[in-house]
Amino acid sequence: QKAEWEKLKHAETVTADGKHFELAANIGTPKDLTGVHNNGGEGVGLYRTEFLYMDSSDFPTEDAQFEAYKEVLEGMAGKPVVVRTMDIGGDKELPYLKLPHEMNPFLGYRALRISLSTLGEGMFRTQLRALLRASVHGNLRIMFPMVATLKEFRAAKKMYDEEKAKLIAEGVAVSETIQVGIMIEIPAAAILADRFAKEVDFFSIGTNDLIQYTMAADRMNEQVSYLYQPYNPSILRLVKNVVDAAHAEGKWAGMCGEMAGDQTAVPLLMGIGLDEFSMSATSILKTRSLMKTLDTSKMKELADRALTECDTMEEVLELMQEYVG
Ligand code: PEP
Ligand code: MG
Repeated sequence: QKAEWEKLKHAETVTADGKHFELAANIGTPKDLTGVHNNGGEGVGLYRTEFLYMDSSDFPTEDAQFEAYKEVLEGMAGKPVVVRTMDIGGDKELPYLKLPHEMNPFLGYRALRISLSTLGEGMFRTQLRALLRASVHGNLRIMFPMVATLKEFRAAKKMYDEEKAKLIAEGVAVSETIQVGIMIEIPAAAILADRFAKEVDFFSIGTNDLIQYTMAADRMNEQVSYLYQPYNPSILRLVKNVVDAAHAEGKWAGMCGEMAGDQTAVPLLMGIGLDEFSMSATSILKTRSLMKTLDTSKMKELADRALTECDTMEEVLELMQEYVG
């Protein structure tokens, strides 16, 4: 098995019927690129930049961020790199940023909500400038985490456009092909995906949060982990809604939550038509190997039946047995 995976390292990801899917990696620091290369990643689908903030004793400077982003972009040599803007708050604290104590941090002041507030705006603009400056070194895609409303997306995009205009006025070179998208991790955004799709360049579904918010089950709480159900038909419907909305506007939809690398979920996600799967680098080769054996029209039939015939996660799993054994 290991030998077969090794052979797939430099191969394209193609299904039994010759369809291509993009298999990308989730990374936390430029050091993780070694793993991406060793496992044949076709891109970086999620660069979690908060480690830059957490591993530092003070706000990382624009130059320090620029160096990290440039290293990743150059390291991927023109392959797509999706960088997520800071996703702090929730469970991720910073010693140098005083965040208020909250009853429900996961429903509170986190991620883009901090970036768009008076407290976070300066940090956010610094990050956008560092990203824009680094953009000429590769194929950059920027995404905003925890978007609930179009108003938030527009506000973030406005800051991005302003920083871009400022840099250009200063004579700094900026790539003209940067895509700007959002994570879909709040049900409100998944439901309104058709509206978002008109304004964003892409979606990346963050199932770790999307599942916890849809099922109202804390992703860390063992007591309610039985409700944390990636294969629940409600989750599948949301995913389909997002993928269809993207495609209707000629955009692409990926997934960077754990579900994207879950071998049980992959056939369903292929059937739904997800374009890009981003996962821990160590899952890429086994996923490429699995996809090689699957036929997309069969997986589409599986997904359609799961979406129309199944009431429960258990029924979805039972149906899957018929298709992938
Ligand atoms: C997610 O929510 O699925 C995600 C990828 O983001 P994180 O796990 O960093 O919250
Ligand atoms: Mg998340």
